[in-house]
Amino acid sequence: MSEISRRDFAKLAGLAGVGAWASSAWAPFAIAQGAAKVVIVGGGAGGATVAHYLKKEAPELDVTLIEANPIYSSSFFSNLYIGGLRTLESLNHNYGGLRRLGVKVVHDFATDIDAAKKTVKTRGGRTYAYDRLVLSPGIDVKYDSIPGYSRDVSRTMPHAYTTAAAGKRALKQQLTAMRDGGTVVMVTPTDPYRCPPGPYERACMIAHYLKTKKPKSKLVILDPKKAFSKQPVFTEAFDKYYKNIIELNLTTEIDDYAVTSLDPKTKEIVTKAGKKVKADVANIIPQQRAGEIAVKAGCTEGDWCPINPDNFASKKVQNVYVLGDASIAAPMPKSAFSANSQAKVVVADILGELAKKEKFPARYRNTCWSLLAPDDDVKIGANYAPKDGKLDASGGFVSQKGEAADVRKANYQESIGWYDGITADMFAKAGPAAADQKKAG
Ligand SMILES: Cc1cc2nc3c(=O)[nH]c(=O)nc-3n(C[C@H](O)[C@H](O)[C@H](O)COP(=O)(O)OP(=O)(O)OC[C@H]3O[C@@H](n4cnc5c(N)ncnc54)[C@H](O)[C@@H]3O)c2cc1C
Repeated sequence: MSEISRRDFAKLAGLAGVGAWASSAWAPFAIAQGAAKVVIVGGGAGGATVAHYLKKEAPELDVTLIEANPIYSSSFFSNLYIGGLRTLESLNHNYGGLRRLGVKVVHDFATDIDAAKKTVKTRGGRTYAYDRLVLSPGIDVKYDSIPGYSRDVSRTMPHAYTTAAAGKRALKQQLTAMRDGGTVVMVTPTDPYRCPPGPYERACMIAHYLKTKKPKSKLVILDPKKAFSKQPVFTEAFDKYYKNIIELNLTTEIDDYAVTSLDPKTKEIVTKAGKKVKADVANIIPQQRAGEIAVKAGCTEGDWCPINPDNFASKKVQNVYVLGDASIAAPMPKSAFSANSQAKVVVADILGELAKKEKFPARYRNTCWSLLAPDDDVKIGANYAPKDGKLDASGGFVSQKGEAADVRKANYQESIGWYDGITADMFAKAGPAAADQKKAG
């Protein structure tokens, strides 16, 4: 990562605080319990960051990261791949940096958690004991939230909304294979779901692809919501760039675009209001819930996991933290930026507990960028802090309609710096450990 993007990321992520606790108030760490064991399930935006900073700040800790896949294919920036502005490979990241730092990276699937015995079981038949457990498993898709949809049907009508590369590839291949003049249908979920602006950035990127490669085609959005994130700037972009391509069907008081049936053979989709659309390509994004392992751990209430906003400790199970998309952190959105920010607080809390250090007030931050068209990028963000048992937002900002092209282009450059920065931060790609490794040859 370049020095500029590293600096930009630190600035964007509000990392001054992390640097501060890492280098002064929190160091050196005298781990009261010797090689205390921390097990992390899920090596994505939340879990990989926790593994990185725990091991970096307290090398004597025994840190195990259980992650199902050897390669992380980021959901964030995947819309740019769909739009033809980025390769699928550019979304890939491995765990070499974390391994070099001393994190025990295990590629296996966690299947069960015994909170009383403080153990995690994996599909590979191993059992891992922990003093502290961190869960950042992201989302599972609720296939049955859309009549006619299923895991099987998702192979032909992909959601492309998780870290699985196959779904993204399938959606892109179907768009590429579609005739000019075809109809793409997008079905969007109701709140809460991963990345609130994600479906609408995707709509822009699909429409950009159609406009440049298959201009006679159209994109029909069936939206069960009445409103969505950054709506004014998205609808402005739909009108400005994709007027004859995007048809947005938003639910109103009388009209309802929730899907009531979907036929995978004919690809006909019907809504509650009786609208019928026959898709050539269908991108179905269903409702979501916390990753299954959070359910197994007993951390869920309904679909998601209640947490203490001071430290993201589970409100339901002792010695367990839940962060990222799986947690109930509203008004923080379910985003990679949020998960990475929450991870820093989880690390500080674990080190505070194990080293019996004073704890400092938690502070969080989020920014979400969305690309509307090449070089036209918008953003939304805020700071968050615990207040009265909840998270309280302050300093919020959002892009406005009619902004100058150079402002939007600067947003795009900023988003690229953020992507490079957060992935380096998650996977310990740069910094002292990587530099030491290089020196060591
Ligand atoms: C189209 C799209 C665009 C997006 N754009 C942005 C954006 O611009 N900015 C932004 O900040 N966010 C964006 N996001 C959201 C972002 O991807 C997520 O919020 C973020 O990845 C959440 O981090 P997480 O750690 O909770 O989960 P993830 O990053 O999904 O990581 C979870 C990991 O856990 C692993 N796992 C799950 N269960 C198990 C188990 N039982 N055993 C072992 N491993 C397990 C998975 O393999 C996965 O690697 C976008 C999402 C989508 C879908």
